[in-house]
Amino acid sequence: MKDINWNDYSLETQAIRAGHKRTHEDEHSIPIFATSSYVFKSAEEAALRFTGQKPGNIYSRFTNPTVNAFQERLALMEKGERCLAFSSGMAAIMAVGMGLLKAGDHVLCSRGVFGNTVLMFQNYFSKFGVETDFVDLIDTAAWEAAIKPNTRFLFLETPSNPLIEIADISALADIAHKHGSLLIVDNCFCTPVLQKPFELGADIVIHSATKYIDGQGRCVGGAVIASDEIIEKFIYPYLRTGGATMSPFNAWVFLSGLETLAVRMKAHCDSAFELAKWLEQQPGIDKVHYPGLASHAQHELVKRQQSHFGGIVSFELTGGKEHAWKLIDATEMLSITANLGDVKTTITHPATTTHGRLAPEVRAAAGIKNGLVRISVGLESLEDIKKDILRGL
Ligand SMILES: *Cc1c(COP(=O)(O)O)cnc(C)c1O
Repeated sequence: MKDINWNDYSLETQAIRAGHKRTHEDEHSIPIFATSSYVFKSAEEAALRFTGQKPGNIYSRFTNPTVNAFQERLALMEKGERCLAFSSGMAAIMAVGMGLLKAGDHVLCSRGVFGNTVLMFQNYFSKFGVETDFVDLIDTAAWEAAIKPNTRFLFLETPSNPLIEIADISALADIAHKHGSLLIVDNCFCTPVLQKPFELGADIVIHSATKYIDGQGRCVGGAVIASDEIIEKFIYPYLRTGGATMSPFNAWVFLSGLETLAVRMKAHCDSAFELAKWLEQQPGIDKVHYPGLASHAQHELVKRQQSHFGGIVSFELTGGKEHAWKLIDATEMLSITANLGDVKTTITHPATTTHGRLAPEVRAAAGIKNGLVRISVGLESLEDIKKDILRGL
């Protein structure tokens, strides 16, 4: 296999070819290395590998060739220096916290992040003396006002879920750096196909590979991408000890997911944009949340920051919860599930599912109304998706 510098290639090509170190068997597709450990040629070589004086595999909690291929490929696609894969998106977020935080540190997190991310900071890191404040994702001034001398990092997701609000990554990176903090972006909704947080100044990118990277709802996995220094000093030592490693089988599924990611994302976005415009024309709908629409508050920002508008649309029904549930129950094809990023279209009622455990006033403050419905637009025929929604409209 030729020694190719994949940095010279575009994302679409990296996604299909990078990361595979062909073995002596000349295989065309990446093999699943189902091995927990590796053998050394001598006692001396074992010693050298264990102390890090000689590179090479030791044990699959640390490194595995199939997982390495996934890591290398995703790092290239994100334009980051290094990637580490984890057993889930939450394990990736946990690793960043465990690696970077110590008692007395402060975290600033956007209010609209994934529910378990909120719980991770609020219920778990708080037990070890790390304080977290939550701020409005799109209120850049509020981020700056809330930052403290001990703020270790700013953590956000953009676009947010389920209201699809857009944070100004460059502005927040500047604020973080001015105060000696890091900016962490959970890039799960966009994937590197739509948004490259490192080019906008982010220091660490997080992924739940479970969503668009898999793309067909099969495996749970996650990743952290950062500079060599951050990975080497803070994240890899924790992975090796903490042990939330990605399995080689899951890495193999995600590798093939990456191969079709660019074409899938384009198709998801095209359908979601069409669906959002169509929903705006339907009676009984108060508001459609989609950043491609001119009515979206951050429409100009999203055009600068993302290459397309994304595959998630949410909308508010005039009839509140009753109408939302009626619409969801009237569908015959759409999957009623909170998962997203699948080739299958999914529909969910955030106020009673993903955000159901929040106190009503907290939910209201977050802008999640009872009539809100979220759709992760899949790759079925758009006409069939519309027909299914119309049944309950
Ligand atoms: C799903 C999700 C996560 C958590 O990922 P898991 O793979 O389910 O652990 C984190 N962030 C976002 C934005 C998500 O959608």
